[in-house]
Amino acid sequence: MVKSIRPRLHSFIGYQPLAPQEALSQSSGVPVEKIIKLDGNENPYGCSPRVQEALAHYSGYHLYPDPTQYVARQALSDYVGVGTEHLVLGSGSDELIDLICRICVDPGDKVIVCEPTFPMYRFFVDLCGGLTVNVPRNPQYDVDVKAVKAAIDGDTKMIFLASPNNPSGNSIPKEDVLSLLEAGILVVVDEAYYEFSGATVAPLVPSYENLIVLRSFSKWAGLAGLRVGYGIFPQSFAEMLFKIKPPYNVNAAAQLAVVESLADIDYLKATVDAILAERERLSTLLKASKILKPLSSEANFILCPVIKGEAPSILQKLRREGVFVRYYNSPGLENCLRISVGKPEHTDALIEALNRLGEKDG
Ligand SMILES: *Cc1c(COP(=O)(O)O)cnc(C)c1O
Repeated sequence: MVKSIRPRLHSFIGYQPLAPQEALSQSSGVPVEKIIKLDGNENPYGCSPRVQEALAHYSGYHLYPDPTQYVARQALSDYVGVGTEHLVLGSGSDELIDLICRICVDPGDKVIVCEPTFPMYRFFVDLCGGLTVNVPRNPQYDVDVKAVKAAIDGDTKMIFLASPNNPSGNSIPKEDVLSLLEAGILVVVDEAYYEFSGATVAPLVPSYENLIVLRSFSKWAGLAGLRVGYGIFPQSFAEMLFKIKPPYNVNAAAQLAVVESLADIDYLKATVDAILAERERLSTLLKASKILKPLSSEANFILCPVIKGEAPSILQKLRREGVFVRYYNSPGLENCLRISVGKPEHTDALIEALNRLGEKDG
């Protein structure tokens, strides 16, 4: 058995996933209902009530879901403003990253990423035996377009760009995307936080052979637990995806949730607006704490370099108070915390905990 495992996988590092609430509760000693979860960029207002209602009454759970995702793609076509022939859904946009890599990356092929960024690009490229070429972002976390272009060679298959970028929260300007598209390689723009930034290159997809845009329902639409995302692809790429994807990759509940979410867009936009307003309040309060230095963000989270103390120690102290934020011990993110924007009461609890910590250490 063990001998059958591909040798390269023994050095595969994998992904550090979020612990579930129950585990957070156990490790911190704080009851589940008191946990303040600001570590996963999830929507604290939950999904649309129309989704809850529709899933409670759905009568087709015993049937396989639609492998062509027909109704969901129709609804997405209206929402995105491109034809259904450009749209494919995945079990989270994570699955689409996986499928794109399987389509494009042979062992030894190169894929460019600009770290610090979303770790799943590297994850799936590695899994395919591809080589991840990191072209680091500058100190302001902007993509170094010149350096990216210089890194492209005959083995380069594509580049992944998160916009807004996770965890830095900044977007890539459209001119930069256009400039990279001219270089001829496949450009994948991951717009998982599009609804918070309002900036998109999706309308360009039908005019380019080498542009893919990924979106997700996990963050803005409150559907992280159902796993559903989609991509906007050149038509021939979408056709290839339909050929190679697991036929029933997006379950019936997720497909229905997409349709019901889009039918309740005003409700969801109101929760997005509440999160955007709260992001500004949170940022102001964090600045005033003098412990963290919040960066500006176009998404529903804020990257915060620590200016007083050490990130791991602050993380632990917040945990003991039931407040969970994200820490990355990786290049470019030294001594930084990423804080998801929650409800106003979550901000208040976080700030109180930070201030207590400041008093103790001050
Ligand atoms: C959260 C996130 C995703 C994953 O989205 P799913 O649809 O939940 O798989 C993709 N890209 C980025 C940049 C993210 O932050």
